[in-house]
Amino acid sequence: MDQKIWLSSPHMGENEFNFVKEAFDTNWIAPLGPNVDGFENDLATYLGQGTHVAALSSGTAALHLALILLGIQAGDEVLCQSMTFSASANPIAYQGATPIFVDSEAQTWNMSPDFLEAAIQDRIRKGTKPKAIIVVHLYGMPADMDRIMAVADKHAIPVVEDAAEALGSMYKGRALGTFGALSILSFNGNKIITTSGGGALVSANEEWIKQARFLATQARDAAPHYQHSHIGYNYRMSNVCAGIGRGQMEVLPLRVQQRRKNFERYKEAFRLLPDVQLQQEPNEDYYSNRWLSAILVNDHNGATVDRETLRLALEKKNIEARPLWKPMHLQPVFAGTPFYGDGTCERLFEKGLCLPSGSNLSEVDLSRVMQALQECLNPGVVA
Ligand SMILES: *Cc1c(COP(=O)(O)O)cnc(C)c1O
Repeated sequence: MDQKIWLSSPHMGENEFNFVKEAFDTNWIAPLGPNVDGFENDLATYLGQGTHVAALSSGTAALHLALILLGIQAGDEVLCQSMTFSASANPIAYQGATPIFVDSEAQTWNMSPDFLEAAIQDRIRKGTKPKAIIVVHLYGMPADMDRIMAVADKHAIPVVEDAAEALGSMYKGRALGTFGALSILSFNGNKIITTSGGGALVSANEEWIKQARFLATQARDAAPHYQHSHIGYNYRMSNVCAGIGRGQMEVLPLRVQQRRKNFERYKEAFRLLPDVQLQQEPNEDYYSNRWLSAILVNDHNGATVDRETLRLALEKKNIEARPLWKPMHLQPVFAGTPFYGDGTCERLFEKGLCLPSGSNLSEVDLSRVMQALQECLNPGVVA
């Protein structure tokens, strides 16, 4: 059997180990230290727009703190893109609040501004104005941020930007992760850069970021003994992990280039296969980091190959591919939760597949993937 080709695996640069070694040499083995400060500075500089950053133990923890900072409480409603990873929605439940799921638009696969507006109007009509909007940039593709922000501003509802998959992406030249009142990033093992596990909370509001660091370190008041006037959390990033992050920040622009190049290779390979559509940047306003290259396998014109057939054909060749995120309103754990849409994300889920997209894929790996795709989708044509 050929070696496994992963969907997206960690890809270290040259200096990660040096930063980690420095943490060991100086005995900064704790959830604070020079690497944590350095990583936060690197991220803030990269994102621009006067942002401040708190490095945390995960993207999920960052979303939880974002909702706490916005005062989300039991009984509140929070609007959330349905098509996403469960970590976008779970923190709503942590707070005892109710998620209200919103469909995707076909163009970006992200939150539909029209269904967002419809959802807000209907919730207000029913007597509860939602307290926050969680928008996601799937696979690195920017959501239609002008229209999302316009709807949010019109109703004065704060936006939490889940940019876990979108570090390095831009909308109208501005980094994703700088649009929300609060934004989150993830550095889990399969993301575009990783700290093995980790996340960050981002905001232009420095007070919020200071408060996040306070809450993330058990909310300890200034006193010689342990004194608490808030419920605290243990959500800070370790100085060892932050060392990996500092090394990864040195190669982030390269990683974006490498992932975008994968996408171009797939695009070229699919040029002659009308049954496959790629997740496209709608126009020059959209710049995706191409965290994952994703396709829709169409079943029109009597085409015989569906998404699952293709996925299994790749699996047989030891190539990992994965269906798109299953929408949250279809998840058993969120059964009965309100959903506003026309089923666009359900159709995307049925047809969508993420292809191997790591920045560390070799030419040989990519050729193997192309060959397997060709064989399955177009067996009559010799690649
Ligand atoms: C990975 C991811 C998260 C969660 O990040 P963790 O660091 O794994 O907790 C949240 N939202 C989306 C869309 C993600 O892809």
